[in-house]
Amino acid sequence: MSYFKEREAEINGSLLAVLSGENIIFLGPPGTAKTQLAKNICQSIEGGKFFNYLLTSFSTPEEIFGPLSLKALEEDEFRRKIEGCLPTSHIALLDEIFKASSAILNSLLTILNERKYHNGKEIIDVPLFSVFGASNEFPEEDDSLEALYDRFLFRYRLTYIQDDENFRNLLFRDHGDFKPSVNIQISAIYELRECAKNLNVDPDVELIILELRKSLQLQEIEISDRRWKKIIQVLKVAACSSGCMAVDRTIVLLLQHMLWNLPEERENIRKIVFELVVSGGISTEKLRQEAEDLHAAAIIALKNDLPVKVICDSCGEEFLLRQGIETHHLSHKNHSYTLKKDGVSKIYPYDNLVKEIDSINETMGKKSTLTSAQKEVFEKEIESLGNRIRRVKCRFEDERDLLRSLIETNIWLSTLDGKEALMLHDSKSIELVELETIISKAQSMLGLESRQVKPKPQFAEEKAKIIVPDSFSSVNSFMKEIGSRLRLK
Ligand SMILES: [Zn+2]
Repeated sequence: MSYFKEREAEINGSLLAVLSGENIIFLGPPGTAKTQLAKNICQSIEGGKFFNYLLTSFSTPEEIFGPLSLKALEEDEFRRKIEGCLPTSHIALLDEIFKASSAILNSLLTILNERKYHNGKEIIDVPLFSVFGASNEFPEEDDSLEALYDRFLFRYRLTYIQDDENFRNLLFRDHGDFKPSVNIQISAIYELRECAKNLNVDPDVELIILELRKSLQLQEIEISDRRWKKIIQVLKVAACSSGCMAVDRTIVLLLQHMLWNLPEERENIRKIVFELVVSGGISTEKLRQEAEDLHAAAIIALKNDLPVKVICDSCGEEFLLRQGIETHHLSHKNHSYTLKKDGVSKIYPYDNLVKEIDSINETMGKKSTLTSAQKEVFEKEIESLGNRIRRVKCRFEDERDLLRSLIETNIWLSTLDGKEALMLHDSKSIELVELETIISKAQSMLGLESRQVKPKPQFAEEKAKIIVPDSFSSVNSFMKEIGSRLRLK
């Protein structure tokens, strides 16, 4: 089974697609063990029927849907013998799917959309869970092929094995045939879906999804309402099978595999999804912009030029700009400063220095000091922005353990994605500390006292205990078992 090395995300996606009854497409070169994967997953379903076909532009409906029934023809009826073909299968792999001719496309779309097949006069419900589509090339501009592509909610790009050791294993080690150690019953899959429907979505997930839609729209990536609805249902199935009582934000990370249309959009979408999930829908970028604007406004309001020469008494550094003193003060809190006025040098601690500079400016008629009204405005702005930043910072600190435990519970997340989410979380925390520094810079520059309000940790609420309902522990253990066997973890 070492074919499935380096395929963790794809295996997880395939299993989740099957459980939630969605279709999955793999774009990439042939020979990446897609057929094997689809077949093995089907083997793990009790009574699961597998159908596998390589399409060419000459493929006929008979090959996919079954030969015409001669008996029916004798009675002037047009019906196919569908046994053993796509309409009776649970999982189907259609290779080179975009080669499908128009004779096949119509019936195929109906099966993919509605899980129904029109066999002569009869309309039958097909038992299909998922079609695994594969293609080496992206569909050319063609409306019906685009409609076909749209039916695949899960999208992956496959490459050949990258790691040398894994490649060596693939070539020279024999791992025998795949024998599933646990099976899942078809009825359990339907039960899971029913139960998932009633699951709640965490409020921060709602916020993240709304923000996500907005930022995709900004980049002119449109996702249809129908697709969003399907996505929410998939997230619920993922949460339910993980044993969670609600969809939490780590599950949203899976959207990286459902939102791109063109392969080149993939990386960017992944980045947006991670950013929003890790920060809970809050844009730290926006906070940074506000902090920088405020700082810049303070510099302008204060007139940055110094009216007299100022030297640090403790280390001899000379200053030409007010901003320089303020920066210096932040890293050397107890340094005092020499101010030379009318040939007389006097030493001031920082706070008095600021006042002295203001009063010199005033006597020189230079309107660089702030009026008390201006000062009040700044004070208010700084306080409110500072509090917002501090609140977000505290939230980040409080949430780290929560995020880690959510990631651990999430059976659908690849190891790499879990690690990356935590790393991004840490770098966001550092960024927030930087923002606090910008705020206190502006504060000390304006000679305002820093009033630290300790925000209450309002986000540290305990995550609802994770209870795996009995009926789904089978799904959960199925996923863990099959997933890990396929992955060879
Ligand atoms: Zn100094």
